[in-house]
This record gives sequence, C-alpha cells and structure tokens, in this order.
Amino acid sequence: MPRPYNRHVICADLHCHSTASDGTLAPAELAARAKAAGVNLWALTDHDDISGQSQAKQAAAACGLPFLCGVEISVSFADVTVHIVGLGIDPENPELLAGLAHTRSGRERRAQAMAQGLAHVGISGAYQGALQYVGNPSLISRTHFARFLVAQGHCQDTSEVFRRYLTPGKPGYVPHEWATLGQAVQWITHAGGVAVVAHPGRYPFSPTAEYALFSEFKQHGGQAVEVITSAHSSADAARYADLALEFNLLASTGSDFHSPTESRCDLGSMPPLPGQVTPVWEALQHRVH
Ligand code: AMP
Ligand code: MN
Ligand code: MN
Ligand code: MN
Repeated sequence: MPRPYNRHVICADLHCHSTASDGTLAPAELAARAKAAGVNLWALTDHDDISGQSQAKQAAAACGLPFLCGVEISVSFADVTVHIVGLGIDPENPELLAGLAHTRSGRERRAQAMAQGLAHVGISGAYQGALQYVGNPSLISRTHFARFLVAQGHCQDTSEVFRRYLTPGKPGYVPHEWATLGQAVQWITHAGGVAVVAHPGRYPFSPTAEYALFSEFKQHGGQAVEVITSAHSSADAARYADLALEFNLLASTGSDFHSPTESRCDLGSMPPLPGQVTPVWEALQHRVH
C-alpha cells in the first residue's frame, strides 16, 4: 500500500531552538531559514517553553511551510538528564502549560548556584553575564552561560565551555531535578502530541539503563525516537533505527539547530530517515498547520 506521504519528498526538520529558549534566532527567522533550506515539514522545539509557537506558526503559514507545534522537555531519569520532544502538541493545553511552568521554575535558582560554582574558580559575574544572552526571562540555560564564557575569552567555543565547566563534576555544573519521564510523556500525549526520545545516542547510559528508558517510555505511552539528529553518527542512526523496530516506535528527524555560528548542522541538512522505519509524521498529519 502506498504511504500517505512519500518519504523522499518530505524534508522534515522536527527539532530546533529559538530565542524562546537557547537558540539565537527568533521563531520567524527560523521559519524563513527552514523554508530557504528546502524544509517542507518543520517544528520548533524550545526547551521547556512554548512561548515561541504562535510566532513560529504564523511565520510558517506566511511562507507556506507546513508546521507542527513542538517542545523539548527536560527529564531526570536514572540520574541522567534526558530530553523528550513533543510533536503536534496543542500549545494551549492547560496541563502541558502548567507542567512546563513547573519544569522551568527551578532554572533561576540553578543559574545562581552555577554562577557561585564558577566564582569559586575565579569566573565572577557569570549570572549577570549569562543574562545578557537570555531571550526569555523564564528560561536561563547552560548555553547562555557558555556564550558568556566564550565572550569573556575563557574558552574558544561553547563545546569547550561544556567540557571544562558545565558538565557533571565540573565547577559550573549543578545537578537538577527535572520532570519525571512519566510526567513529560503524559503532558505531551494529553496535549494531543507524540512523545519522542530526543538524541538517544547522547546519553551516558549502560545498555541496561537504556533498555529501561525505552521500556518505561513505551509503558507511559511514548511513541517515537529520534533516529536522525546532528548528535548521531551514521552508526548511531542505524542502531536507533533497529531500536525503533524492536520497540515498535516511530522515527523522527531533526537538526537540533541552535545558532548559525554554533550548531554542527543547519536546518534541513540532515540525511533522510533509513528506509525500514516509519516516519513520525505518519501519525501527525492531522496536527500539521
Ligand atoms: P540546560 O537545559 O540549561 O541544562 O542546557 C542544555 C543545553 O545545553 C542543551 O540543549 C544544548 O543546547 C547545550 N549543550 C549541552 N551539552 C553541550 C555540549 N557538550 N556542547 C554544546 N552545547 C551543549
Ligand atoms: Mn539547547
Ligand atoms: Mn536536547
Ligand atoms: Mn534540542
């Protein structure tokens, strides 16, 4: 039977960030950039926040770019921060809005503690400094600190900042309790969306812990996994395509674009999904704007 969408004519980019979280472009700028890159199905997935969705939706409509509302929720699972993307969500759903507000609420305190940790190693003023890069007052992230440290000449680029200062065990890292896996999947699915495990190749899980993540994700009603993302090698993509089949999950794809100068990959530049998986948009046609 022919598929409703031909995978070869869909150029989807279902993961990126705007100034509503830790991206450097406004939602409308991203829409124009995605359109210019040949994307024909786009989602904006800011961290723990959906305040950019209406601007993104309007800008996408204005340039004839099919659009899905999205979000990327921070979750704590087995002492690791895991990201769960939601696609096709209703951005006015009260349960989702309340859950995201709660998830964002600890960021301010964490940022103050990060600045203290950095002050201990001689980097002062990091909180005020990071704030200069924040586009959304309720969403201060490690990325904003990283930009400040690069601008101050402490590191060459943001990757180096993360490696030296902002990852577990480093002076600016502060452990944080995010949403649970069950909460994130529930908020997304109750808002009419599909929950997706973001960039699974990035987590430091043992095979057993990874198996537990996917088993529990399925039990909570999670439906998809990112197979193609800029963080994955081609071996990762092949591995998570197999895992999608094993767990009967749909497959998603996205660049995780943050900035023209920092991101590894631009919008719309990802290779196609492997042939054997079912693309996530097959379950989301009724959610496309
Ligand atoms: P936060 O939600 O404040 O913990 O910040 C997480 C964000 O930091 C991620 O979404 C990435 O944008 C960024 N990030 C995490 N690890 C790295 C890294 N190694 N290099 C560059 N950016 C990173
Ligand atoms: Mn980010
Ligand atoms: Mn992420
Ligand atoms: Mn992301």
